[in-house]
Amino acid sequence: MAEKSKQLFERAQHSIPGGVNSPVRAFKSVGGIPVFIEKAKGAYLYDVDGKKYIDYINSWGPMILGHAYEPVVKAIQDKVADSTSFGAPTELEIEMAELIKSMAPNVDLVRMVSSGTEACMSAIRLARGYTGRNKIIKFEGCYHGHADSFLVKAGSGLATFNIQTVPGVTAGVAADTLTAAYNDLDAVQELVNTHKGEIAAIIIEPIAGNMGCILPKPGFLEGLRSICDKEGIVFIFDEVMTGFRLAAGGAQEKLGINADLVTYGKVIGGGMPVGAFGGKKEIMQHIAPLGNVYQAGTLSGNPIAMIAGYTMLKTLKDTPSVYTELNEKTASLHEGLDKAFAESNVPYTINRFGSMISVHFSEKPVTDFASAAAANNALFNQYFHAMLQEGVYLPPSAYESWFISTALSTEDIQHTVDATRRFLKNL
Ligand SMILES: *Cc1c(COP(=O)(O)O)cnc(C)c1O
Repeated sequence: MAEKSKQLFERAQHSIPGGVNSPVRAFKSVGGIPVFIEKAKGAYLYDVDGKKYIDYINSWGPMILGHAYEPVVKAIQDKVADSTSFGAPTELEIEMAELIKSMAPNVDLVRMVSSGTEACMSAIRLARGYTGRNKIIKFEGCYHGHADSFLVKAGSGLATFNIQTVPGVTAGVAADTLTAAYNDLDAVQELVNTHKGEIAAIIIEPIAGNMGCILPKPGFLEGLRSICDKEGIVFIFDEVMTGFRLAAGGAQEKLGINADLVTYGKVIGGGMPVGAFGGKKEIMQHIAPLGNVYQAGTLSGNPIAMIAGYTMLKTLKDTPSVYTELNEKTASLHEGLDKAFAESNVPYTINRFGSMISVHFSEKPVTDFASAAAANNALFNQYFHAMLQEGVYLPPSAYESWFISTALSTEDIQHTVDATRRFLKNL
């Protein structure tokens, strides 16, 4: 079993650091050999050894309509013969920007980049350039990509591998990043009082997905909004996960809260390397060439990436029932898992918002990084491997959200619940 994956992983380590191009893929925290993927279609991944998996990662979000979604594949095929890049403006980029504006609230101007990291990094620079202030506030366990400023108490792979400080990030940069616990409004107020007039931005995942799925408590985001208003701080929603997933207008629409700047990634590219940041004209006009806050990209707005993203977003805009369907499927998974766990005496917490869901082996509510870290994550790792055996591909870490796609069937959900029940019975 998994013979070919094993061979490939061995071979990969001779030429790629750790054998992977992004750390969590190595399965290092859960142990064992990462599964090498051959192809995917709809709800299923197929590995190089011919095993089929129900996919709950969906490329960490972009495959919201399932893998190899026909219209996206077709659009790419049609476009690719006209050259893969120009480094010059195209009409398609305008159409993409107009489409994003028509879906996302509070976006007058939007700049395309090639990843979520770039989007968040640029948004922070813009907030600093706009306010003339240096410091930012982020939340413990939130991940905003791998730019230096964000690698302080970060979630995702850094939480998974327990990396507290990152060699290579200077003390100066780290000192400009202040952190508070997620859902702790008082802590933010205290930071703001202590650093009066020094804070350029507060950046947050409005629904956190990089320490498992964690929901903002009622009033938390509203409280941050009002602190930002009072102190002239730029409020940044990192919607790299939530954008176009929770609703056409992302978390801003779903939660009814306005951000000053928004960052996108993942779904926005339909599986191609795309990110974006946007917001009110008053702030966005400081970006070059309108203003002096410099930001650029050779492949930004790349035609193949744009056609994939445009086709994906257009489908989501024109088919609001997608969101009802995603919600219903995830709710049904939630209900099934809840039943399976309740029949066992294993402590558990399931957090869900829309089509983001995660299981923590914790009897206490999981509301921030500390409570996520206090869960029995060794047991999660066991769960992960048991599910993998059963042909269910979960994120290889308790510090990650699962992402549901519309391609998931009732039978897939039932199999996932049954496999979970078997795992719990065998403990
Ligand atoms: C994935 C992610 C990023 C980084 O995006 P990349 O495309 O991996 O650079 C930033 N913020 C959040 C919330 C993310 O989930």
